Amino acid sequence: MTKFSDLGLAEILLRALDREGYETPTSIQAQAIPYLMQGRDLLGIAQTGTGKTAAFALPILERLAAEPRRPAPFTARALVLAPTRELAAQIADSFRAYGQFMRPSVGVIVGGVSHRPQNDMLARGLDVLVATPGRLLDHIASGRMRLASTEVLVLDEADHMLDLGFIVPIRQIVAKLPKKRQTLLFSATMPKEIAGLAQDMLNNPAQVSVTPVATTAERVDQHVFFVDGGAKRDLLIELMNDADISRAIVFTRTKRGADRVAQHLDAAGVGAEAIHGNKSQSQRIRALDSFRKGRTRVLVATDIAARGIDVDGVSHVVNYELPETPEAYVHRIGRTARAGASGRAISLCENGERPLLRQIEKLTRQSLPVTDRRSADQRHDDAQPARRVPRGGAPKAHAHAGARNASKHPRREGHHSDGHHPAGPRPARPGNGQKRRAFGGGNRAPQG
Ligand code: AMP
Repeated sequence: MTKFSDLGLAEILLRALDREGYETPTSIQAQAIPYLMQGRDLLGIAQTGTGKTAAFALPILERLAAEPRRPAPFTARALVLAPTRELAAQIADSFRAYGQFMRPSVGVIVGGVSHRPQNDMLARGLDVLVATPGRLLDHIASGRMRLASTEVLVLDEADHMLDLGFIVPIRQIVAKLPKKRQTLLFSATMPKEIAGLAQDMLNNPAQVSVTPVATTAERVDQHVFFVDGGAKRDLLIELMNDADISRAIVFTRTKRGADRVAQHLDAAGVGAEAIHGNKSQSQRIRALDSFRKGRTRVLVATDIAARGIDVDGVSHVVNYELPETPEAYVHRIGRTARAGASGRAISLCENGERPLLRQIEKLTRQSLPVTDRRSADQRHDDAQPARRVPRGGAPKAHAHAGARNASKHPRREGHHSDGHHPAGPRPARPGNGQKRRAFGGGNRAPQG
């Protein structure tokens, strides 16, 4: 698995990522950053929620750190074009967050606000300018912005720009840029106008794409139990005694863990089988077959073994251990809620796994409802304790609030907030419903 430190990023950026709580690059980051660090142009098929902002912001900041230079007045070293004011502001915030130890000058130019402060800002020159096309063209026309020395151009959400009628303004802006530059274009879809724009703008681009897995996760009701590591097994049995769980997949991180959990469930009278890479093909087929036919209620699987599972009617996914990457979480919970059905996902999270939980919440932009089952000692150890649902008020596995509601009230009672999460999971971005809440990963979660 790629680590941020494998990508060759400067220490000053790695430190910021650490501060932001990012542990592993998302798929688009792992794919795109190496090309961008070589100076290649890039065509990225990815939508918001995949981590694409960091995928382009980090290499740009890396360039600024490697060749620090004061930008001349009325110029910007990197230009990012975005379709909306909100997105422009978020992108600028991301640059500031990832650049927090190098303090690049980052400015935003959008319409609907007065020109004066923007004029003053442009007069100072910028490392990074994030702009919507219309207002930027105004500034270019009045001579307050010159693009002849801009080194990098990013076009974000190009298909959304097309919907908003920005293709002509974009072409006008691109005409002002030097021929020798690095150009990146991101789009969730590739209508022919965007393909044409890419063809004209990009020079031998590397192509990367991540397929969204969003809609699955939006249909899944998700819940987290904070629990002591040693108490996970008993909690699992307790949960499995819920008659609502008709067919469940329990995920573990290791093969040995899968065997142990399956044995423990079996011993407690819950029919379970493990599948993982150490099992023979015939054992796997047999286990899957009895799961599919309902003879075994619980399948215990590792992430890799689960890739081949194609079973409808999985009512619950249980994360006995949280996965190392947040995207794996999305793939796991996508095993339920298939073919338009709803499903439930329960995660058992011990103290040491809370950074993993934070990553999942960041990536999916949800704050998951939590029940705290940890011992008093463990809670006491917690420097800044999570808000708790009182024991008596603990939701049953089948009666919890869905994550959809949770994302609308990210900080309401019962949601965890541990004080180490500087920005907190952002609530869904406004407007444009599903697309805005979408997130994705490298492989498509099966959707039935
Ligand atoms: P984006 O698609 O760029 O809008 O990013 C979606 C969300 O994922 C944002 O809240 C980011 O802060 C977060 N994010 C991006 N990359 C990572 C990562 N490697 N680990 C954890 N969270 C991330």
